[in-house]
Amino acid sequence: MKRKLSNQFLGNFLVIFLLTILATVLAFVLLSFASGLISDSLAKNRYPASAIIKEDYKQIDASAVVENGGGVQVVDKEYRVVYSSGLNTIGKDKLSTEEFTTFLAESKSKPYHYEILYQPEGEFWLIVTFPTSIRLDFSLVYNKKASSNDFMRAGWAMATVVLIYLLILALFTFIYSRITAAGITVPLQKLCDGTRLLREGDYSTRVDLCLKNEFAELQNTFNDMATRIEHEISLRKKSEEDRRRLILDISHDLKNPMSSIQGYVELLMTKSDMTEQEHSEHLEIILNNSKRANRLLTELFELSQMDSPEFSLKPVRTDLCEYLRQICGELVPQLERAGFGYEFDIPEESAFALLDTDRFGRIIQNLMGNAVRYNPQETTVTVSLTAQNHQAVIDFSDDGIGIPAHLAQDIFKPFVRADDSRNSKTGGSGLGLSIAKKIAEAHGGDLTLRYDGNKGSTFRITIPTI
Ligand code: ADP
Repeated sequence: MKRKLSNQFLGNFLVIFLLTILATVLAFVLLSFASGLISDSLAKNRYPASAIIKEDYKQIDASAVVENGGGVQVVDKEYRVVYSSGLNTIGKDKLSTEEFTTFLAESKSKPYHYEILYQPEGEFWLIVTFPTSIRLDFSLVYNKKASSNDFMRAGWAMATVVLIYLLILALFTFIYSRITAAGITVPLQKLCDGTRLLREGDYSTRVDLCLKNEFAELQNTFNDMATRIEHEISLRKKSEEDRRRLILDISHDLKNPMSSIQGYVELLMTKSDMTEQEHSEHLEIILNNSKRANRLLTELFELSQMDSPEFSLKPVRTDLCEYLRQICGELVPQLERAGFGYEFDIPEESAFALLDTDRFGRIIQNLMGNAVRYNPQETTVTVSLTAQNHQAVIDFSDDGIGIPAHLAQDIFKPFVRADDSRNSKTGGSGLGLSIAKKIAEAHGGDLTLRYDGNKGSTFRITIPTI
């Protein structure tokens, strides 16, 4: 991939290189053509020295030259400037032989056009000067009569210059093509590496190209995608782990009552000399264990029902305060039987919420049932309700044994219990709080465990009001 792309770039730039050479040649040809085209109309060619030269320099008419911005000087054989009109670049009235030779030799490189004619009869030099506008007089000149050595030398020199020019052009093209290709192949390679790592399961892979072009967009998209995949994978792992644990817990919790039922039924069937009392004791154990298994299965069914996409509440606009007062009132006999104290702090005014009252009652019953089941006599249960900012908060507290802080996060997970003895008399299914939390969430609220420094436990139900 990398090679292919860079070769394609090299190919493209080779074509550009050839086109550049072609354009350079064409430019020279055009320059030469343009130079020829305009040369007749230039002042220096319209007023050549040959047109104004006279045998006697005093008869020379310099007016046309001067009018067109030029100048005329006459230098005699003593190198004295004997006549000057208009533009004068000699600067002196009298020159030495060296100065005059230097002037003649350097005239080509100055920004002036000089035409210098010698008049043998008058023994003077006529110098016509025009300022150069833009020198556009490229031409390749050669003379066949030149010595073959000179011809070869000049030819080689020119060929070498052209070759060096072409080599430099080729080098630049090559470097440019490589740099341009690298601008694409390097980020592509990094993205390829990242994708490969992702495919191999390294979901923490991120690409950093340090670029601000389209590749940066691709990099951001790639990194976003990697983050999402990483998140999804960790969620999947977690839910897989939860599912495994759930199955393990279910089978463990069902195994005890089922094997107990089996054992006692077998005993009843095989032991013939059983007293009436033993018989009814065994039957009671069987009944209790079937109740236990049945409760577990009912709660499991309820929990999985709430996880299913078809699950929906039947919400009705209900006065939360009125409803809570009523349900707490119904629970009073249970509290009194257990020797519990109670305090209800529910405001007189109304706070309306959309409630599936059957399901919502399950939360209160479960919290109350737990308070009674897990705490000793004389524990006080407090239920309070406050409503503000479109939200009602129901705090359900007891001053009993409390729930260890390390379980605060997990207590709402299925099968999590504070006392780990699954067979203890108090031991429930460990599903009650999971179901209660799901019901609260389905109502758009939540059920959380709070630690406010007080003894016992405080569960908080939040629910949006309307
Ligand atoms: P369970 O069916 O076991 O009651 P829950 O999910 O309702 O299941 O409760 C989980 C565990 O939380 C219980 O086993 C118990 O150890 C602890 N728990 C719940 N409520 C209270 C409470 N009010 N006081 C002390 N412990 C509690």
